[in-house]
Amino acid sequence: MTTDRATAAYLGLAIGDALGATVEFMTPREIQLQYVVHDKLRGGGWLHLKPGQVTDDTTMALALGESIITAGMVDALSVAQAFDEWMRGKPVDIGNTVRRNLLQFRKTGNPEAPYSDHDAGNGAAMRLLPVALSTLGQPTECVRAASRAQAHVTHNCLLSDAACETLILMVQDALLGADKKHLLHQHARPLIAQFPQFKFRAIRQIQNPSGYIVDTIQAVFQSFFDTDDLRSCLIDVVNRGGDADTTGAIAGMLAGATYGLDDIPNEWLKVLDTKTRQSCERQAKSLIQIARH
Ligand code: MN
Ligand code: MN
Repeated sequence: MTTDRATAAYLGLAIGDALGATVEFMTPREIQLQYVVHDKLRGGGWLHLKPGQVTDDTTMALALGESIITAGMVDALSVAQAFDEWMRGKPVDIGNTVRRNLLQFRKTGNPEAPYSDHDAGNGAAMRLLPVALSTLGQPTECVRAASRAQAHVTHNCLLSDAACETLILMVQDALLGADKKHLLHQHARPLIAQFPQFKFRAIRQIQNPSGYIVDTIQAVFQSFFDTDDLRSCLIDVVNRGGDADTTGAIAGMLAGATYGLDDIPNEWLKVLDTKTRQSCERQAKSLIQIARH
């Protein structure tokens, strides 16, 4: 059951990325004019994708997952090398902070980016699922340390860390069967208590969420906590436009972990790029195996 949910989280991430990429950088109004409601894996977008094709959110997660499977653990240097290799493979897109700090790693060999409050983008959060899967069951402090090892390769920033650690612990509780109420009280609320900027209730609906981690988390939490299935959650979040592939990826991961495989619409699953689907399914199993050792 845990493995099924882990697989669903990985497929949810990839599907959310593929669905959102079509409307990345569009406004809700533009999306509405063009599609009424965008709810199909139709490809296109500014990256001219094929239907079901994913972007950096998923391919970086897969690069991270491969490094954890090979090393048997989250090892910062292995992660940095895996991301560097990923960048050499000419990915369809790449974030500015990711590129800058990976180029820095090439020069220095240091897998920890310098601390910067400005590196508060969502680039570390979008790809963290393999850490959640491979550290399931470990003490919270070990999970947090593994989260930072992965994140700091490109994003060494307090707000990013807080969001990443919260997302990982949420996914882990969801994999073990926690419901949304528990996720809200145990994870979302404590994050807000510590960093009130993440508050997502009693504020307007976040439209056009940017790549800023605060915007991203607010949009994802609004959609995730206000819907009851993966399909509604993803449609709600990507139709807000903005950094829609990344809000889609993170929301898809949370919804997949929470609702499980049976809740993933077949019409999306069958269009998702086949190689990507197979990699997600294989990695989910291997990463959960690592957690059990
Ligand atoms: Mn992307
Ligand atoms: Mn994005």
